[in-house]
Amino acid sequence: MHETSIAQRMVEVALDAAEKNGGGRVLALRLQLGELSGVEFDTLVFAFDVATRGPAAEKCRVEIERVPARLRCWTCGNERGGALYDACPSCGSAGGDILAGRELRILSIDVDDGSAAHASTAGET
Ligand SMILES: [Zn+2]
Repeated sequence: MHETSIAQRMVEVALDAAEKNGGGRVLALRLQLGELSGVEFDTLVFAFDVATRGPAAEKCRVEIERVPARLRCWTCGNERGGALYDACPSCGSAGGDILAGRELRILSIDVDDGSAAHASTAGET
């Protein structure tokens, strides 16, 4: 499952960051998930639940910030939410540039020595 490998990889990134920052335990992992990223929110939550079950990542809190889709219509330039192939409310045509909603990245990783490490994985879809 797609979401399983994403969660596992993000947990690995977090553990790696913790290691490099004094070897503390990972307390929290914050990430952004776009509505158009192709990743199911509920499935990802479940995948993290499984991925953080190992002793190394135990009790790691995962916070997922959902980013709504924002599209700019190709025909009239109107900005709207929703899916790419929904009709534009102002001109009725489908399609547009994706301004937001494709995010799938780690915002921050909190390690229990009081400091926070920052990492990002861009373009992972
Ligand atoms: Zn339009």
